[in-house]
Amino acid sequence: MKNRKVNTTNTPVYRDAGFYLKDAATTKDAFEKEKDHARSPSTYIYSRYRNPTVVAAEERIMDLEKCEWALLTQSGMSAIDTALSIFQRGKDTGRWLFFSEIYGGTNSFIDNVLIERRGLDIHRFYSSDGVYDIAHLDTVLNDLRPGIIYLEIISNPMLIVADVDKIIELAKNYGCVIIIDNTFATPYLWNPLRNGADLVIHSATKYLAGHGNLTGGVVCGNDHDLEKAAIEYRKLIGHMLSPDDAYRLTTLLKSFEVRFIRHCENASRLAGIMENHPAIESVLYPGLNSHPSHNIAKKYFGGKGYGAMITFDVIGYNRPEKESNRDRFMERVSEKIKLIPTLGDADTILLPIEAVWGDKYPYPGMIRLSVGIENGNELEEVLIRALDEIMK
Ligand code: PLP
Repeated sequence: MKNRKVNTTNTPVYRDAGFYLKDAATTKDAFEKEKDHARSPSTYIYSRYRNPTVVAAEERIMDLEKCEWALLTQSGMSAIDTALSIFQRGKDTGRWLFFSEIYGGTNSFIDNVLIERRGLDIHRFYSSDGVYDIAHLDTVLNDLRPGIIYLEIISNPMLIVADVDKIIELAKNYGCVIIIDNTFATPYLWNPLRNGADLVIHSATKYLAGHGNLTGGVVCGNDHDLEKAAIEYRKLIGHMLSPDDAYRLTTLLKSFEVRFIRHCENASRLAGIMENHPAIESVLYPGLNSHPSHNIAKKYFGGKGYGAMITFDVIGYNRPEKESNRDRFMERVSEKIKLIPTLGDADTILLPIEAVWGDKYPYPGMIRLSVGIENGNELEEVLIRALDEIMK
């Protein structure tokens, strides 16, 4: 059957590994044009290079992130690798500065790949008392003169909100490239590229796909030289997302905004309950006045919401000879809220922090809750019942 145009508004799943090029002249022309690394080429060659189903999903993300280009990759980590590697130039790469409170996988990538394997000159900027000190950053930048600054707008798991406009302003003063992982804030709360960031990455596995059943990543930007470099790197390393996942992502993105609004509403409700419950030792949620970066979050997110991650500590973790309250809590909610090591799922899920991060954080009873989009009344009931039982 000939390739016919069908009356649909959806881009189909094009599973072709290689595309039909008809004759030598078409092939020559396609490969000649390939040197331009067009995001959406007039003639497709090979799916690892570019794929029309993937391009269709990228265009949805460009609308969300309000940017000139977006490139999908097969995981958040491959998006991070792409965003960073395009700046690597052998021995002339210079210094790169990473904020300390970032995803553990990114920290391991820095240690195991960037430092150990590639021998790059990496530095870290540490938070103090739950905030990033901008005056101190100024001093560090002045001393270090890094080529790249990398941070997460809402950090994991302490949920520190970075004062990004100030950081971007400083970065520009020192001529640094600034790369932001916007996974936790999502494009619903903030668009870093509109405020001067050079690149934004997401683990699309999280809120963008939002159902805990797809692994993907995306690099977004406005600069077309960076776009071409990222297209070339993704193609040569083979970081391309599959057309099947791209099609599913396009569909899932249609409900992204409604979902994220609901995520934020539920999280804010649960955080409010925790703050006032005697079974909770402490709760971190940027929407609470008590959170060290509440005012910064308010400034950037403009009252739209504060994300959907809550980190909290149940009282009496260390109950000698008895089951810890943390474990009791997890057991009491387990019918509804499962221990699953991801986040941004439609279901509310949790993670015991000490089991993953070890003794990095001082409160061993801490739990990270990724609040889902279930019925808020039901979630509230499950939470209150478990907390009340702890008090008995
Ligand atoms: N960035 C953040 C903030 C994350 O939480 C994660 C994963 O949890 C990643 C990046 C990596 O994404 P992926 O697991 O899709 O590779």
